[in-house]
Amino acid sequence: GEVVALPNIQPDRLQFIKTETPKAPPPSQSLMFGHTFTDHMLTIPWSSLEGWGVPKIEPYGPLSLEPSCTVLHYAQTIFEGMKAYRDEHGKVTLFRPDMNMKRMNTSAARIALPTFNGDAFLDLIKKLIHAERDWIPREPGHSLYIRPTMIGTQKFIGVAPPSEALLFVICSPVGPYYPDGFKPIALYGTTEYIRAAPGGTGAYKLGVNYAPGVMPQKQAAKMGYAQNLWLHGPEHYLTEVGTMNMFVVLKKNDGTIELVTPPLDGMILPGVTRDSVLALARGHASGSYKISDLPDKLVVSERPITMVEIQEAEASGALVELFGSGTAAVISPVNRIGYLGKDIHIPTGEDGMGPVSRPIWTELVGRQMGTIPSDWSVPV
Ligand code: PMP
Repeated sequence: GEVVALPNIQPDRLQFIKTETPKAPPPSQSLMFGHTFTDHMLTIPWSSLEGWGVPKIEPYGPLSLEPSCTVLHYAQTIFEGMKAYRDEHGKVTLFRPDMNMKRMNTSAARIALPTFNGDAFLDLIKKLIHAERDWIPREPGHSLYIRPTMIGTQKFIGVAPPSEALLFVICSPVGPYYPDGFKPIALYGTTEYIRAAPGGTGAYKLGVNYAPGVMPQKQAAKMGYAQNLWLHGPEHYLTEVGTMNMFVVLKKNDGTIELVTPPLDGMILPGVTRDSVLALARGHASGSYKISDLPDKLVVSERPITMVEIQEAEASGALVELFGSGTAAVISPVNRIGYLGKDIHIPTGEDGMGPVSRPIWTELVGRQMGTIPSDWSVPV
């Protein structure tokens, strides 16, 4: 028969159902990350017969799901994390949202959830943020955390691509991750558990990647470490830090500074912050863009790095700093790694940051908040 294309996401069909009980946003100082939600959410249903259905911005509230829904059994769920910022003039922006749209489609394809037109979805997300703009705290370092999510909703006990899905977006006003300045964290170099494996799902933002990390995180916390440093293989390659990408800064014999991050080998989530740190550092290293205070003799490497190399760098004094990168904390400095019964100590400056993370953080946050103009900042 004739193949008829099913509808993609259609922003012009949006229905807006306003809440009748609007809440007052809580005082910004009392915000705890991920605990407060705004008045509305965006929902878009999908079915294999009808494609993407009518998008709705409706009051935030419980979803109605039957207990047989595939998401509740086989973890058919993917998500994204991005932030909307409001500058001092009230202008609202997103940071590189096209990257989140691309990554979400990649995640969807990996677990056989439906893909979608990222521009159309972003258009609707902007409408939601616009409706909730009074929820974006104005204080420096504050933002509205946006959580796009997709779940399989088919009522069916069976492992297969779901014939029904729901795409939804909720928003949460958040304060800065480090309200009292940077606090370097201690990591537990985890040798008992893994986060990802070759051919697995580590490179995708799937719900299924996160639940298994909770128990190892609790164990690390019990030993006095804030996060797991996820390692790979008998060589103990460094991969990620908790739910962040990671960077190591090394000093070479000739004084060159090397910024190292593990390559995107299928086990590492391609972070938007990771990509931004790399782009800024490479721009500076090539001389095409100057970041003040960043060392001039800088090389940027996406290459594998092992715990032995970290130990050797500590011993020779070549270890300059180590930090995590992610949307929530932006940059998270590390001062210690527990590894095979010993602690590796990593230098941090008086403000908790190092000679590479400090200037990069300043540039990144400037571009996010709009004080440094950049085409990474997209108006809502
Ligand atoms: N790795 C993992 C496992 C993550 O969950 C996140 C957070 N999305 C990151 C890295 C950082 O990605 P991004 O910079 O896009 O927030």
